[in-house]
Amino acid sequence: MTRHTATVAGIVVDTRHWIGGARVASATTFTDESPIDGAVLGEIARGGQAEADAAVAAAQAAFPAWAATPPAERARLLRVIADGVDKRREDLALVETTDNGALLRSHRRGVMPRVAHNFRFFADRLDGLGHEDFDTRGHTNHVSWDPAGPCVLITPWNAPLMLATWKVAPALAAGNTVVLKPAEWSPLTASLLADIAAEAGLPAGVLNVVQGYGAEAGAALVAHPGVRRISFTGSVPTAKRIARAAAAGLVPTSFELGGKSPLLVFADADLDVAVDLAVEQYDNAGQVCLAATRLLVESSISEEFTRRFVARAAALRQGDPRDEATDIGPNIHARQVEKIDGFVRRAVAAGARTLLGGGPNTDLGGLYYRPTLLTDVAQDSEIVQEEVFGPVLTLQTFDTEDEAVRLANDTRFGLAATLATGDRDRAERVAARLVAGTVWVNCFFVRDLRAPFGGSRESGVGREGGTWSFDFYCDLKNTVTAP
Ligand code: NAD
Repeated sequence: MTRHTATVAGIVVDTRHWIGGARVASATTFTDESPIDGAVLGEIARGGQAEADAAVAAAQAAFPAWAATPPAERARLLRVIADGVDKRREDLALVETTDNGALLRSHRRGVMPRVAHNFRFFADRLDGLGHEDFDTRGHTNHVSWDPAGPCVLITPWNAPLMLATWKVAPALAAGNTVVLKPAEWSPLTASLLADIAAEAGLPAGVLNVVQGYGAEAGAALVAHPGVRRISFTGSVPTAKRIARAAAAGLVPTSFELGGKSPLLVFADADLDVAVDLAVEQYDNAGQVCLAATRLLVESSISEEFTRRFVARAAALRQGDPRDEATDIGPNIHARQVEKIDGFVRRAVAAGARTLLGGGPNTDLGGLYYRPTLLTDVAQDSEIVQEEVFGPVLTLQTFDTEDEAVRLANDTRFGLAATLATGDRDRAERVAARLVAGTVWVNCFFVRDLRAPFGGSRESGVGREGGTWSFDFYCDLKNTVTAP
């Protein structure tokens, strides 16, 4: 008999779907393992077409009443969910760390507070919507942000609950109902979120969670004719598949995808700041879409920069992510580690020189890839052009600002870029020329939910954040009334 729970550090997580306000099992399950030590955490319900149909039907049934719920009441419920997240912060942090291997200290102090903030932010933001009236020859134009309908939200494993709630909160605030499908490698906190939402009093069917593989549950959801919005965070190949499915029903999509972002270090930069910024790119074992994985350093300082960087990075402590002293935890899965190592081996075979790391840390078992720095890499090589999604950085040098910009922009991505420079005019000039959804100057990962977030080129389609989220999750309507 299959057990329907996973127990993590004494915290019990239901491993079934959450559909129409009830727990629903599937005929089959898949096994969820912890990347920390390979421990089996539980058997997770493996959804497919039937569960996708049931969840979308529940979201459709719940939609009219939720859409008609006054915005102030929707906002109130979102704030109660935020309080519930705060109350269970420690549980959520422990479960997330065990499930995806990211640092417990950052889940406790950064990620879970941000999860609660996602709900409060979009609850507050709702107040400012829908009051844009103007006059045309005596006629009044009234612009309203109408709920669009059931939304399918599909999310990756590298920051599971943060990325899920970044979509769930504005979708619900806007008056939509939601079917969330979390990544199969980190399914647990989405289930806890369903509990928290139910305890908060969110009506049945407003938030549904379907577990399962992308090619099964995910594919069935994005092809469902009852869906009115699809928001996806994940890889480029999956986005292209989803775009094809969405095209059949002309369903609007929002895509937040991969990157190969640069960190440009100019000779006039504060070198301590530049080295700190570069070392920060190993955070979450390099599994950060925004990570500046291409270090572009002005030739005149590259030796000094490299010396200091390697000394700092070599001192990073790799180990159990539950230990407060750990800087770098494991990568998510053996398949991901193989993929990372494949990139590094092919780069070395093509002539790259390894300045740091270059393989898994075998003392810790196979899933902990050592922070790696490669140089002597060609601009058109795979390691410079493709997203590795592991703790692997490349180092290239440049001699002029023009060359730096050319190298920075020369990939098919455009998610983010970071500059280290002591010259404000240069920062403005260079930022204006970079193709990126976000540019950071002498800082990294400073995120304000009021800002537009997304990527250019193959790093994404559309922007979420602030009012942009509501623009996506709503059907905008203009009502013109004669005098
Ligand atoms: P992935 O594309 O393999 O999977 C993401 C999600 O899509 C999972 O839930 C998966 O089950 C689902 N999925 C897979 N195939 C599907 C299909 N055919 N139909 C519907 N759903 C399907 O990506 P991943 O490996 O989980 O995540 C890593 C990627 O996510 C990286 O490229 C990273 O850069 C990107 N990412 C982007 C951002 C951003 O905000 N731009 C943030 C985090 C991660």
